[in-house]
Amino acid sequence: KFSYQHRLGFGSGNPTGKIPLGLKRKGLRIVVTGGAGFVGSHLVDRLIARGDSVIVVDNFFTGRKENVMHHFGNPNFELIRHDVVEPLLLEVDQIYHLACPASPVHYKFNPTNVVGTLNMLGLAKRVGARFLLTSTSEVYGDPLQHPQKETYWGNVNPIGVRSCYDEGKRTAETLTMDYHRGAGVEVRIARIFNTYGPRMCIDDGRVVSNFVAQALRKEPLTVYGDGKQTRSFQYVSDLVEGLMRLMEGEHVGPFNLGNPGEFTMLELAEVVQETIDPNAKIEFRPNTEDDPHKRKPDIARAKELLGWEPNVSLRKGLPLMVSDFRQRIFGDHKEGS
Ligand code: NAD
Ligand code: UDP
Ligand code: UDP
Repeated sequence: KFSYQHRLGFGSGNPTGKIPLGLKRKGLRIVVTGGAGFVGSHLVDRLIARGDSVIVVDNFFTGRKENVMHHFGNPNFELIRHDVVEPLLLEVDQIYHLACPASPVHYKFNPTNVVGTLNMLGLAKRVGARFLLTSTSEVYGDPLQHPQKETYWGNVNPIGVRSCYDEGKRTAETLTMDYHRGAGVEVRIARIFNTYGPRMCIDDGRVVSNFVAQALRKEPLTVYGDGKQTRSFQYVSDLVEGLMRLMEGEHVGPFNLGNPGEFTMLELAEVVQETIDPNAKIEFRPNTEDDPHKRKPDIARAKELLGWEPNVSLRKGLPLMVSDFRQRIFGDHKEGS
């Protein structure tokens, strides 16, 4: 049995109990479930660069081998095709649990959030690993508090079309806290707000990827409803920094990880026009059911306890994903990431 504490030098092999300088940030064995996905693959890049051994567990439901292919051949990197709904035996120090069908067109009727999270918590308990859950701002539902603080319990429709995702993540949070309180598992909970960047799924229906792909393809930008609903968009590198600080820090959370810059969908469409094509047209479509009217994180807790805040604005971040999208859509050879 190889526990997190043991690995950090608290075990019998280190009588002083002191963490040798530098070890805490290096040489851990880390599982990233969903590591072939958008956020996961960027996280894997950072962990590998830090010197950790990384095992990606992914069933390629929405993830792609291409997102992690640049690590093939690196002895510190392993990729396992596995559905986390099935049990999994591994020996690791940390588990970043990202596996989840994360977009409305994919997440319906999928037990990953509940059964997959249970299995990864069971794994964390067995090997004494630290477990980080990537929850979501969707746990706040259609919020009656604005901006949303972590103390807000949310306004979620338990039988709606989105409930498989938001109630699934709420259950995942519950399981995480139960394993923490009941079995002493070291856990961390991040509530992630809308995030964008290179390697996002192109056609999974999220608004930033839709607008960018549409503008590049010279199609109209599809604004759902009146376009006055708001979201707060975070660039992926800011999120990855927050996730790593949370994992390494001493606080369970939950922590909101998001960019407080709030935009209506019409404003987002304007930024996309400015960035890609000022002549891009806007087309209004009926909105989806139970669409939250507004969303903006209160990040005071993460600022204070993790020393974290995002530093890439939407206008700075959007161009950084455009070259990647251009390359994937048109297959040209411009630099992506
Ligand atoms: P993504 O779809 O790119 O990544 C999810 C990954 O999980 C994919 O690689 C997919 O193949 C894998 N996966 C799905 N079901 C699986 C299963 N049963 N077994 C193994 N692998 C499985 O999405 P993302 O945006 O990178 O999201 C990562 C995490 O962050 C998710 O948990 C998501 O809920 C959370 N999150 C993301 C956002 C966002 O805006 N991107 C916002 C809130 C929360
Ligand atoms: N589990 C797993 N890998 C492990 C340990 C457990 O996938 O290394 C799964 C296990 O199959 C079970 C879940 O995690 O479905 C919860 O495990 P736990 O030991 O907490 O519960 P129990 O098996 O006692 O019901
Ligand atoms: N949306 C839109 N056009 C699109 C896709 C989405 O106007 O092509 C809207 C959607 O109705 C919602 C917002 O953009 O109000 C964010 O949707 P997304 O699915 O990206 O994220 P979530 O609803 O999960 O925050």
